[in-house]
Amino acid sequence: MSLCIPLQEKTVHEQLPLMDHRTQRILAQRVLPACHTPVAEARVSWWPVTGPDGVVGQGEPVAWPSAREADHTPIQLPHPWGPPWGTTWFQLEVEVPEHAPGELELHVDLGWSDHSPGFQAEALARDESGKVIKGLHPLNHWLPIREGTGTHVFHIEAASNPLLLDVPPFIPTADGDRATAGTDPLYIFRSAVLVRVDHEVRGLAADLDVLSGLANTLPADSPRRWRLATTMQRALDALDTEDVAATASAARAILLPALELPADADAMSATAVGHAHIDSAWLWPVRETRRKVARTLANVINLLEAGHRFHFALPAAQHVAWLAEDHPELFERVKNWVADGAIVPVGGMWVESDAVLPSGESLCRQFSEGQKLFEEVFGQRCSGMWLPDSFGYSGALPQIAKLSGAEWFLTQKLSWNQVNSFPHNSFQWEGIDGTRIFTHFPAVDTYASNLSPEQLDHARHSYKEKGYGNSTLVPFGYGDGGGGPTREMLARADRMGDVCGAPRLRQGTPDDFFKEAEAELKDPEVWVGEFYLELHRATSTSQCSTKRGNRRNEGLLREAETWWTIAAVRGLGDYPWEELQDCWQHVLLGQFHDILPGTSIAWVHQQMTKAHERISAELNALARQARLLLAGSGDQDISFNASPVNRDGVPAMGAGTARRTNPTRLTEDGDGWQMASDHIELTFDGSGRLRSFLDLSSGREIIPEGVDAGILHLVPDFPNMWDAWDTERFQRKAPAVINTFDEVTAVDDGLVTSVAFRSSTAKLTWTLSEDGREVRVDVDVDWHEHDHMLKLVLPLNVHTSEAAFETQFGHIRRAIHENTGWDAARFEVSVHRWMHLGEMGFGVAIANDASYGCDVLRDAHPSGGTYATVRPSLIRGPRFPDPETDQGEHRFSFSLRPCTGIAEAVETGYRRNMDLFPVTGDPVEPLVTAEGALVEAIKLAEDRSGDVIVRLYESLGSASLARITVPLDFTVEAVSILEEPQPDTVITSCGSGEWSWAMRPFQIVTLRLTKGI
Ligand SMILES: [Zn+2]
Repeated sequence: MSLCIPLQEKTVHEQLPLMDHRTQRILAQRVLPACHTPVAEARVSWWPVTGPDGVVGQGEPVAWPSAREADHTPIQLPHPWGPPWGTTWFQLEVEVPEHAPGELELHVDLGWSDHSPGFQAEALARDESGKVIKGLHPLNHWLPIREGTGTHVFHIEAASNPLLLDVPPFIPTADGDRATAGTDPLYIFRSAVLVRVDHEVRGLAADLDVLSGLANTLPADSPRRWRLATTMQRALDALDTEDVAATASAARAILLPALELPADADAMSATAVGHAHIDSAWLWPVRETRRKVARTLANVINLLEAGHRFHFALPAAQHVAWLAEDHPELFERVKNWVADGAIVPVGGMWVESDAVLPSGESLCRQFSEGQKLFEEVFGQRCSGMWLPDSFGYSGALPQIAKLSGAEWFLTQKLSWNQVNSFPHNSFQWEGIDGTRIFTHFPAVDTYASNLSPEQLDHARHSYKEKGYGNSTLVPFGYGDGGGGPTREMLARADRMGDVCGAPRLRQGTPDDFFKEAEAELKDPEVWVGEFYLELHRATSTSQCSTKRGNRRNEGLLREAETWWTIAAVRGLGDYPWEELQDCWQHVLLGQFHDILPGTSIAWVHQQMTKAHERISAELNALARQARLLLAGSGDQDISFNASPVNRDGVPAMGAGTARRTNPTRLTEDGDGWQMASDHIELTFDGSGRLRSFLDLSSGREIIPEGVDAGILHLVPDFPNMWDAWDTERFQRKAPAVINTFDEVTAVDDGLVTSVAFRSSTAKLTWTLSEDGREVRVDVDVDWHEHDHMLKLVLPLNVHTSEAAFETQFGHIRRAIHENTGWDAARFEVSVHRWMHLGEMGFGVAIANDASYGCDVLRDAHPSGGTYATVRPSLIRGPRFPDPETDQGEHRFSFSLRPCTGIAEAVETGYRRNMDLFPVTGDPVEPLVTAEGALVEAIKLAEDRSGDVIVRLYESLGSASLARITVPLDFTVEAVSILEEPQPDTVITSCGSGEWSWAMRPFQIVTLRLTKGI
């Protein structure tokens, strides 16, 4: 008996792959090549822009007027071109012969690989007059030939950007730094060929593409799949592969009924929205993004002007501003299509920022600056928050977005979770204050769909609200590095509109979709709190200089705005509008979701560090100027306090005499040191370890007995992929402990412990605060490590299963145990200025000045109970995309304070981040004082009326009656973040310049103070 199964007994289903193989081969090797017939080759000349170091073709971008005047030299193809990051202008001349039949195109092959558009060479094409025609990239490399015979001339601005995310990805590269990138040409300009287009063959290719894709999404025993497969076989039987052009119509006629069979009555509804995710910087510098925006919008407009009907979602006001500056003519065409409704501004933000790390005020300004520009240039604001690619989303966002005019929120990033599948696609997202915003996660799980049947089928399968809703949004178009929709995608959309076996696809706007989705989900589910992304957890730590610059300038913006507002109101000087706006816009750009998280190439972070230094210098000068104006000519030693909390006797947002109320006593007893004030007492052993931290008022010992504190952990940190982005849970298992110090010395009132390890050094300086209630530790690190993370180790004798972490305008409580998969996956988290671990009536606040990442370990104490070890993440050394990430000297500062509750933690956070500035002059009365709420920003109104804007928030998570005292001649009303009346919040005058209103927990209230009414 044979073990072989007789042929006739093999399942008939095995015929399906055979049929599909036939379809795919004929499509790829016969039909697609027959779409175009070569007619003539173009003559090519070039002008490689020479770099400052003399490398031909490695020069920085040159504007069109200069390129037009440049001498172009004829070249023969194929021809090498393009050192990394260079610019080469090509002039293509093609003769269109008389009586050339049909539609003609010019196909350009700059030498790219047929993948990764936006990650390798790209170009922008202009006609002879300089008018922008369209962009060129590996999967969209054709140019239209307008009617008429004779010579047609194109000017191609080609960018030889290196491919940094190659296969395999995440290999360290020197190409991300202008100084270390090579100088050899990366590309070979292969061809520029005039071709005649056969629309019928192109139509056949699209038919086969969609029908074969559709068939492959259906079950093998589905009659529809078999019908599609056999129909395609009959069509291919009718196709002469030796003469595709002559027989394409016959084949299409056989396919037509399969495309005309309508979708099921209850088929899923998919709204296609054209899009091009353009990272404002990532594996390319900011200046390249400016060109990506132009190429992408040129592509969009080329399609729209050719008669294609679709909608294109356009986020990021900064990109719009760049386009207006760089390409006024193209920008006018964009404006026309926005007025038409085809291009739809979305998001309302200055850039698609990181949504975890920026301060609350920064996120407000992302919206206010963004919406302001969209309104100025397009006459319309954005109706929703479009943020598909950030690495987690703060629970403060629903409130901030709604107060900024957003009615909905969209992202897809949570589909990247490593462990847990997010349970919803359409739902209400409830923020920390209770604000709810209707939210959609596109079920296609990408922001760059190609509209293939397979992707739409994925959306149908993954959609979570089945039975309650039936609609999803599908963003389509090449993204990350831009590119946008193509005519091939639109050809798919045309065929997928209403076809049996697929979701019913229509072109629409985001608003179209959200209206439909909200209408069908009568009682949507609710997700409360942050969207924690179970991936990219190291983005709270990587590129610490970029993060430090951001935190520093957020504080300095507050300084400058606070003092200039008071100075302007008191008639002491003119508010520096342009300077402040410029600083804000650069800080906002630096919060883009690959810059602030530290995931861009070296070039980007080097520029950002310099930008932050420039902004700091400018803001320091501005703030100092205002402080001197306010201080006047008096001779007292006063200090300015821009924070919203009184400090060392200096009033909040005022200036007065600071008092050091509690000097430090430092003593050495032979075995170690004691550092004490009237409130706390620290004991260090001879090796520099913190052995005891006594809170004298409560008598509580904060350091667990026998546990090393004030030490460092050097954690191996080589993630599975995504080096700058990720840190893995397994890396928590075996930290290298640095628990003895080489040197322990007393310096003034402080104690310095220093240690050398591997190739690096660290120095910890311990001091007590002026009021004697806080311990400060400054950690100076000279870091020369890779693939490791350095953590400060702070074990706390606090028994708790959760901790409070500051976020924008409030805080969030997260479990620190690992009861569930969700808890365990949240092993490295973000924190703003402070965190707090507490028991009833006692706790410890830990504030930082610029480190955003941390984890908390729980351990059982031998004597019973548990303690928690807080480990702020200081510094890493990933090698991709910047092989020199974080190398060099850095300083991190922390404050530890025993306290009874959140209020002191909030105060400690401000003290750690806002310095007192000493000046000689007279004390300065605050312009406003507040109770029951904290002032987060004070500035002049954007309408330049002279009104004052004061933004406050409830910081404790407890409803309060807020009061503000303002000058007697001011009236007060509540406004939105866009500074428009907010009638929901009633502000009541209590007389004598005092106004009050009710605050719900974590509520943000913005007030407009108007003089003289
Ligand atoms: Zn992105």
